[in-house]
Amino acid sequence: MKITKFPNEFVNAIPVLKTIEKAGFEAYFVGGCVRDTLLGIPLHDVDITSSAYPAEIKEIFNRTVDTGIEHGTVMVLDHGEGYEVTTFRTESTYQDFRRPDHVTFVRSLDEDLKRRDLTINALAMDADGNVVDLFHGLDDLKNKIIRAVGNPHERYHEDALRMMRSIRFMSQLDFNLESETEKAIEDNAHLLEKIAVERIHVEWIKTLLGQRPQLGIQKFISTGLYQYCPDFADYKDGLIAMSKLDQLHLDSEIECWVLMGHMFSLKPQKTAKLMRDWKSSNDLINQVELAQTALECQSGLTDPHVLFETGKELTLAANHILKILNQSTVTDEAIKTAYEELPIKGNADIAVDGSALIKELGMKPGPQFGKALTAIKDQILDGKLANDHDQLLAFVRENFM
Ligand code: ATP
Ligand code: MG
Repeated sequence: MKITKFPNEFVNAIPVLKTIEKAGFEAYFVGGCVRDTLLGIPLHDVDITSSAYPAEIKEIFNRTVDTGIEHGTVMVLDHGEGYEVTTFRTESTYQDFRRPDHVTFVRSLDEDLKRRDLTINALAMDADGNVVDLFHGLDDLKNKIIRAVGNPHERYHEDALRMMRSIRFMSQLDFNLESETEKAIEDNAHLLEKIAVERIHVEWIKTLLGQRPQLGIQKFISTGLYQYCPDFADYKDGLIAMSKLDQLHLDSEIECWVLMGHMFSLKPQKTAKLMRDWKSSNDLINQVELAQTALECQSGLTDPHVLFETGKELTLAANHILKILNQSTVTDEAIKTAYEELPIKGNADIAVDGSALIKELGMKPGPQFGKALTAIKDQILDGKLANDHDQLLAFVRENFM
């Protein structure tokens, strides 16, 4: 098999391969970039693998950076963009089900391809477009099959994260899981407990953001993997319900968590706890809490108070989830218009602030003070008061002093 039409990312990186070859070594594009080229979808990153050892790569090129030299990876900067070149390697004795105890550099491409997770990820391509396919990855690409390289039981036993990656690629590519591979995931699902939550998190969110998340979620449940993820043992029914949603196209991680919170019947604060258990950032947790609060608000997403508190983007995210649930009652346009019409879009827009109440009215910070500021904001949002300094002060003087 020969690839004749190269994506631009390959065209730009060919000089790196040629330079390595000229020095007497082998070099190939490998893994996800070859897979995605064959599928005709955009590449995320270009990985190059070579028979040259890291020290040899550093001699061949003028400008290199040691980005992961202990794993054999050197970044080559000679040809415009940086390209990561990784020496062919084998990984041995995974004693903890997650990281190889050590990697060994080898001169054989075959050895390197054998350590890769899935047949569709174990493809390599040389500078002329010739594809190396040791495990029938091309057939699996054509037949849309996720299959572990070699003995699936051993592969998942070596590195349990590969089980989540398998589920993730089903969803991203709309592929089916080969039956031996599926059986091996069922048998080894419990090993997922050994994997850092942060790494499971990345794969789970990629699963939800894929083009057919239902497929991935369904296998995530049926193989038992979900039980070994933080808190998910309690939410099997919600996960099943998610896998049955027709129009499940999520656009951001925020949307993923808002949907999970809803499907698991969690109040926003409980969703925040779930997210903390999944090691989410505080910033993300805060945004999800706002969007989920908006989603559950009875007054609807065009309510000025909801829009003010939630902001435009998070309100649109909440509306997208309502659409997925067939519960949306407004269009995105209506939300955008209502947002543009807000007299104030943030506290900084209010013509009176706390210091004005202190300086000009002689108020002292305290409960009354906070109530006054909230009342001003509500009056403006309800259109009962203009956002005018003098009028706002008069309102406070009358009602709060
Ligand atoms: P994407 O970049 O779209 O997430 P990818 O397949 O390129 O997908 P990467 O994580 O970038 O995934 O890894 C690059 C390649 O390294 C993979 O295609 C695969 O060959 C190999 N690989 C990555 N992670 C593993 C793993 N846990 N076990 C075995 N091989 C792996
Ligand atoms: Mg990649």
